Amino acid sequence: MKISGFGGYPSIDSNLEVLEKIAKLQEFLASKKPFIARGNGRSYGDSSLSKNILLCKPYDEIHSFCQDCGILHAQCGVMLDDILDFSMPKGFFLHVTPGTQYITLGGAIASNVHGKNHHHNNYSQIEELDSKANTKINKNILCKSCGQALNCVELIKGGNFIESVLNFSLMLPNGDIMQCSRDLNSDLFYATFGGMGLTGIILEARIRLRKVSSSKICQTTIKTNNLSNTMEYLESHKQAPYAVAWIDSLAKDKNLGRGIVSYGDFALDSDFNYNDKRQNQITSNIHTIEDKKPKSNQKSNEQYMPQYNIKQKAHYKAKLKIPFYLPNSTLNPFSVGIFNKLYYSRAKNGQKLVYFKHFFYPLDSILSWNKIYGRNGFLQYQIIIPKDSTQSLHDILNLIAESKQGSFLNVLKLYGKEDSSFLCFPLEGYSLALDFKNTPSIFGLLDRLDEIVTKCGGRIYLTKDSRMSKHIFDISYKRANEFRELRKDYGLDSKIESLQSKRLGI
Ligand SMILES: Cc1cc2nc3c(=O)[nH]c(=O)nc-3n(C[C@H](O)[C@H](O)[C@H](O)COP(=O)(O)OP(=O)(O)OC[C@H]3O[C@@H](n4cnc5c(N)ncnc54)[C@H](O)[C@@H]3O)c2cc1C
Repeated sequence: MKISGFGGYPSIDSNLEVLEKIAKLQEFLASKKPFIARGNGRSYGDSSLSKNILLCKPYDEIHSFCQDCGILHAQCGVMLDDILDFSMPKGFFLHVTPGTQYITLGGAIASNVHGKNHHHNNYSQIEELDSKANTKINKNILCKSCGQALNCVELIKGGNFIESVLNFSLMLPNGDIMQCSRDLNSDLFYATFGGMGLTGIILEARIRLRKVSSSKICQTTIKTNNLSNTMEYLESHKQAPYAVAWIDSLAKDKNLGRGIVSYGDFALDSDFNYNDKRQNQITSNIHTIEDKKPKSNQKSNEQYMPQYNIKQKAHYKAKLKIPFYLPNSTLNPFSVGIFNKLYYSRAKNGQKLVYFKHFFYPLDSILSWNKIYGRNGFLQYQIIIPKDSTQSLHDILNLIAESKQGSFLNVLKLYGKEDSSFLCFPLEGYSLALDFKNTPSIFGLLDRLDEIVTKCGGRIYLTKDSRMSKHIFDISYKRANEFRELRKDYGLDSKIESLQSKRLGI
């Protein structure tokens, strides 16, 4: 069967095996065919592609949930939207979520996903935890209700998915099941986050959810004039737990890097009206504010509080669907340019309450939107640039604007500190994610962008990647060799492989 990632490029003929029961899985492993695990196929490139693919999505039970400490124990195939359906009516949200809810727990761990709150990873909530738990010697904290150990997770609002995971079980190709945490088999623990499925099959995990005060987000939107202005706003509002900017990738000269910054936090109205059905969103505008310049003396670590706490009548809209691949000619510099101009000019500075799914997962409201790019698919290019290298961001946007190959989905985010995973993508700086239609000329442009990224100490995100060279990978991921060694030591290198692992030599 032909199978591809979310970008539709590349694709491969694969044999599919379904993970339902552990006993069957051991049989599959005994066949000794090299394989890769796959969740819901939302990674864009070739990380979940191999000649033999193990589909983990059907392994999808939620075992338990404690309403006091927020620990959820579930199998790897559970989707984030299922977790939210279950937890949001109880007032619990994911600590870290990417821009789509249609991914599995296994996929979230293997990619060590991150979202709009990565920059917020310096804010520890450990005090909140103390009121609910017994503190024992050496920070051994147990939940009073369920007795589970909480000690290894400092409750952190941002960062990568790893911050919310207490432990997981991992099946190695020889059938051994390893329990992994920060204290137990910690090498496998840190190699699995961001390890793109190359360390074993993640079977189950315990993750910590965070208590929230509403199912709505109080969102502020600000239009910006250029890249410096966009970055200024992201910096000056970094005390907001969630922040993101859309960039007009075709704007040039004095408008280069103009965009729309959105930031916010959960409202305080204790309203958990959960109108999901996976197709609804609140859209009413409630307030307009002045476009003020950020104050440079604003304290960066002051507690962010949403300013409005308004009960509001919800207005719901149904979801759209792209029913078929659009012709290859639909997206061209002209149509993208028009879209970007319209999107930018119609945006209004202001504040509104939005249903949390509309804020976190705007793209999920258009089903199969990836078909817009046509049958040849597209490549997403997500990079991270250290904070002191903002000139490189200018250079990258300049090159893209000049090439006229930019698209409409261009996201800039501020990131916090690196974590201890072997193949950690984030570092303190700015991440830019862009979609490019798959055309022959795009590869040359991306090679030139790679050079700028690596020259300033940046990286390319593996879960979006389908074309990075081994050379670029090796100079940007400093622990690449440690990862290779670990794969060898556990006998993983010949048993678990993807198109990506072969390309990158890991
Ligand atoms: C619209 C959209 C927005 C996105 N936004 C973000 C974002 O903001 N931030 C972000 O970080 N990512 C983002 N992503 C990427 C997405 O979150 C990741 O690619 C995620 O890993 C996909 O999970 P999946 O279940 O679909 O896994 P797949 O795509 O099927 O697999 C991804 C990787 O996980 C491995 N894997 C899956 N299950 C297991 C398992 N049980 N055991 C071992 N390995 C496994 C696979 O081998 C593969 O390497 C976005 C994707 C889309 C489509």
